[in-house]
Amino acid sequence: MKTVLEDMRDGVRMDGIRRAGDILLSGGLVAFPTETVYGLGANALNPEASAKIYRAKGRPSDNPLIVHIADWEAIERITVEIPPEAKLLSDAFWPGPLTMILRKSAAVPYATTGGLDTVAVRMPDNEIARALILAGGGYVAAPSANTSGRPSPTTAQHVMEDMDGVIDMVLDGGPVSIGLESTIVDLTEGTPVILRPGYISQDMLRQVLGTAEMDRGLTSEDPSVHPKAPGMKYRHYAPRAPLFIVEGSREHVVTKINALAAAQKEAGGLAGVIAADETRDCYANAAVKSIGSRDQELTIAQHLYEILREFDEMDVSVIYSESFETPQMGAAIMNRLMKAAGHQVITV
Ligand code: AMP
Ligand code: MG
Repeated sequence: MKTVLEDMRDGVRMDGIRRAGDILLSGGLVAFPTETVYGLGANALNPEASAKIYRAKGRPSDNPLIVHIADWEAIERITVEIPPEAKLLSDAFWPGPLTMILRKSAAVPYATTGGLDTVAVRMPDNEIARALILAGGGYVAAPSANTSGRPSPTTAQHVMEDMDGVIDMVLDGGPVSIGLESTIVDLTEGTPVILRPGYISQDMLRQVLGTAEMDRGLTSEDPSVHPKAPGMKYRHYAPRAPLFIVEGSREHVVTKINALAAAQKEAGGLAGVIAADETRDCYANAAVKSIGSRDQELTIAQHLYEILREFDEMDVSVIYSESFETPQMGAAIMNRLMKAAGHQVITV
């Protein structure tokens, strides 16, 4: 299959949106930018179209898709019950990087929800995404547009690396603005529960709802406690080289990583280092990449997946990363980094 790349870096072009919408309406796949990461879109109400997403990504069939809508009214057709919390969150954060789990209506096929009776719904804040959803029938199922197990794409070039020849079209809207997937909050069980941390933090949800708990399965050391979002149990984003997170005071972390990098060089290897702008110049004997500034945590989120992809292209034998417990997005950044590291942490 030839994958058409439509350049919309200078803004939405309606001729391209119409072609992309027609592909979705006839059951095809279109990747598109959102403010979080690039999504791989299909008509969410067409089971054959959803099934194509799983095949293109190599995604386990029990891992449900998020349905993207462009206006609040669209939620009625795909849910059976809209709790008051959903409206409060919509007023506060939609369009934006928040996904809500609600009870699904019969209009949503099980092929889209991985067999669940609930549906994940999000209204993205990106002009290209919104125009595409409207042109494609109003309901677009879209997971991240990467091959399963690779880092989520934050540019159209990342999408092409994984999906060229596999999907019908890619809409290029330039680099995304957030860089990590949406916060997911489950509203089906009384107390709102965060199933995946993202740009919208627990504090921000509590300010609107009064309460919001973190899914125990995300942080529990007990292997019998599983994350509630099926996708969170998979080891995502594993880079080719083993990745270790080094935690502790700034000074101790720098000393430890330098010692590890020197030992690696001694043994004939090369260590990669993921550092903040503030400490990038403190390292030697390693391939150092700066992820962003601790004073601007969004820059760290924006570059995390890109850096993991870049290290996959390089011949590093091991990667050491600083830890990034920043105020708003720290939970989301560390959740993704810990998964990439398979939870290997060195505490100094
Ligand atoms: P992705 O869009 O690839 O970032 O993945 C979507 C995430 O949403 C995965 O972790 C899914 O397991 C989760 N998800 C989607 N639908 C549901 C649902 N109905 N209940 C719980 N988690 C869901
Ligand atoms: Mg994903």
